[in-house]
Amino acid sequence: MISVFGSANMDLVAYTPIVPKRGETVTGRAFAAVPGGKGANQAVAAARAGADVAFMGAVGDDAFGPVVRETLRSAGVDVGRLRVVPGSSGVAHIVVDDDGGNSIIVVPGANGAVTAPSAEDLAVIARSDALLLQLELPMEAVVSAARQARVPVVLTPAPARELPRELLDAVDLIVPNEHEAEALTGLADPREALEALLELVPEAVITLGAEGALYGSRAGGRLRVPAVPVRAVDTTAAGDTFVGALAVARAEGRPQEEALRFAAAAAALSVQREGASTSMPGRAEIDAALR
Ligand code: AMP
Repeated sequence: MISVFGSANMDLVAYTPIVPKRGETVTGRAFAAVPGGKGANQAVAAARAGADVAFMGAVGDDAFGPVVRETLRSAGVDVGRLRVVPGSSGVAHIVVDDDGGNSIIVVPGANGAVTAPSAEDLAVIARSDALLLQLELPMEAVVSAARQARVPVVLTPAPARELPRELLDAVDLIVPNEHEAEALTGLADPREALEALLELVPEAVITLGAEGALYGSRAGGRLRVPAVPVRAVDTTAAGDTFVGALAVARAEGRPQEEALRFAAAAAALSVQREGASTSMPGRAEIDAALR
């Protein structure tokens, strides 16, 4: 089983030919409301990739809370520990222009109310093969979960921010993209950044978009896993799909390189479809892509 302690959002996406300036109103082309948030996305990715998954986090008591809950539940995620708190759910307000460029306002809402995991949360985490964390909850909550987990902790350090020592000391595997890796280490070369990350945590994967991923462990292993060549139409949540699938393959005890290839196959399937949680492949599809 995989536990995810993280964020859940409603993504409100407006597609528009013109991005409005201050004081201006424009007419958009289309609109979509889709559940997202890195925590929820990783939970859905892991469930679709074939694991039992428990999600711990919070939604608001607004109209979005039940939608987010139902999306997780219908993907097979256990939402028994998803709390409802007064006020707004987390919302990502996204404007996408005709060139595919976007601007985003994230309002943490209920995610900002998440504190340390409860005793019940910790009991669920203790029964898991791994705990997946990201940085869209208050830092104290993330640190508390990492320190109290008695199982391997996998951290996606996004959105990039400074990581307290006490968090790093509790992380077993860190999975930044190349930008986050540079923000953490100050090193633009991913191979150099990987070595610097291994000074901080025992294992690291740096994802490199269409260039694949680099893996390293303090025990000495270094691997480069190529991305699967595909025509990408939407890379939203490719990283979250990668992490969710990687956690599943590791929980199944697969050798490192095989686990990374499984993750790359899942992520490559997701980038060929629009959307975040809606684009994540199921287990049969991932297995077929690997044959
Ligand atoms: P990123 O977060 O962009 O580094 O992407 C995470 C992972 O998704 C990468 O390591 C790849 O395995 C996969 N991926 C991202 N973009 C592409 C792409 N254009 N084609 C194939 N795979 C991709």
